[in-house]
Amino acid sequence: MAVREIVKYGDMNLRKQCGDVEDVFSVSLLVEDMFDTMYEEDGIGLAANQIGEDLHLFVIDISHKDEAEKPRVFINSKIIDKKGECLSVEGCLSIPGIQVELKRSEFITLQYYSLEGEQKKREFNGLLARAIQHEMDHLNGIFIVDRISDLVKMQYKKDLKEIEEDALKESKVREKIQGIVL
Ligand SMILES: [Zn+2]
Repeated sequence: MAVREIVKYGDMNLRKQCGDVEDVFSVSLLVEDMFDTMYEEDGIGLAANQIGEDLHLFVIDISHKDEAEKPRVFINSKIIDKKGECLSVEGCLSIPGIQVELKRSEFITLQYYSLEGEQKKREFNGLLARAIQHEMDHLNGIFIVDRISDLVKMQYKKDLKEIEEDALKESKVREKIQGIVL
């Protein structure tokens, strides 16, 4: 178990579509790292590519808001239906300090695999539906700031540029370190 570094906005690895998990049973340690990292950063959701893993996998825990909800793992998910619309404010662990108001579907039907390898299909709503849509966006290379108008985005231009420049520096450092190890 380990807290991993969160990849930030500007790192091109977060712009790729993530590949499917081929062996559900091979990701249990990664899932532990994802929960550790998410809790450390006070997030309620985290996608695998946010800690540098190109896999179609995300975790969510909203139990602090709703005690009936346990921490959940979603593998190779597909949104197969959407209904309604609602507006709410969202932040993102990969874009620290920025929060935007976003429209999302109010109800979604998701098909996914659990960590036990079971295929599931379920309707979600409220905060859970919103968090799922946020994490699914990550796995498709989309950020919350891609979903707001250019006019609204203008007000975050300076902050986004700073985060982007830091992320590019960090990704160059990572490449160098990997070069030495390999
Ligand atoms: Zn995010």
